[in-house]
Amino acid sequence: MGSDTTARTIKAPVRTASDLVAAGLIEPEHAAGISRVLDEFALAITPSVAETIASADPSGGVARQFVPTLAEAVETADELTDPIGDDAHSPIKGIVHRYPDRVLLKPVHVCPVYCRFCFRRERVGPGGEALTQAELSAALDYIRANPEIWEVILSGGDPLILSPRRLADIRDSLEVIDHVRVVRIHSRVPVVDPVRVTQDLVEALRRPKPTYVVIHANHADEFTGAARSACARLADAGIPLLSQSVLLRGVNDEPEALARLLRTFVENRIKPYYLHHCDLARGTGHFRMSIAEGQELMRALRGRISGLCQPTYVLDIPGGHGKVPIGPSFLEAGGQDRLEVRDVSGIPHSYCEAEVRTDGQDRRRESTRRG
Ligand code: SF4
Repeated sequence: MGSDTTARTIKAPVRTASDLVAAGLIEPEHAAGISRVLDEFALAITPSVAETIASADPSGGVARQFVPTLAEAVETADELTDPIGDDAHSPIKGIVHRYPDRVLLKPVHVCPVYCRFCFRRERVGPGGEALTQAELSAALDYIRANPEIWEVILSGGDPLILSPRRLADIRDSLEVIDHVRVVRIHSRVPVVDPVRVTQDLVEALRRPKPTYVVIHANHADEFTGAARSACARLADAGIPLLSQSVLLRGVNDEPEALARLLRTFVENRIKPYYLHHCDLARGTGHFRMSIAEGQELMRALRGRISGLCQPTYVLDIPGGHGKVPIGPSFLEAGGQDRLEVRDVSGIPHSYCEAEVRTDGQDRRRESTRRG
């Protein structure tokens, strides 16, 4: 890592190994090896993120998410090119229909930044295909033809990289499909490229049916003043905001870092939603923690930070079998009709569930601390 990153002003996105050297983000002697990594996986770092990296900790939780390393050249046998099994559930280009009442609509395959742990890293990038107008029309026809689809999730790629006019067109098409009641957009734009959140973009999303925006961030330092203002523009317009994050070694793998991130979301009117276990994407083993470590972190957060700040810790089951919660359980069988429940300090208590009565009378419940 160059030592004088703060002295450099970065005006254009960082896209090549030589850009990384020029920005002081890698040492010149690593450029050849990093170039080989970039032959496989795309690179983009917005000027805004590059400045954050330079002004925060240049080897800390923000840099680690975006600056490529030689560790990405290391693959393990269980890593996959399509870790969450999108392909198995794609009936038509641009649509993933995994659950009956919702679909992913992926209009674009580019992002303003490329996360080094991305679960779709084989598909996103400058060479990635966006839907043509005909393909987008066919995807919208699929949604129209399937009345069980209650929610459409715009994903990709990052949909908020589209122009406000194109976003408004897509949003309008969805608005008039009677059975589609909710639209959700997954995006990193408000934190990594906040200048894109213009009044025109906000207006493109506002329709009578709700548009939820799910903001992806993994470290509190991503919330610069400009990022906070971009989130405020969305929230002030009445757009509900949720978060998603990925559990990443070296980024948010300590209770303090994770608590700071989750509190930062809530302070910016973003309700923590999902904490993803890192998917088995190729070359991402250096980021992955064990599920037991993730559960221990979640256990540490319970009681330490407000219930408002608690996300659901989830795993996308490899092979396309969907997402399930994998957080710690505080409840165990305790023998006979008793359960053992642990409080936030880990102290076990015995809980007796009374017989369920159907006559509307009070049920007896008992919770006693074990002596
Ligand atoms: S913004 Fe999302 S889709 Fe784009 S690189 Fe990051 S994780 Fe992948």
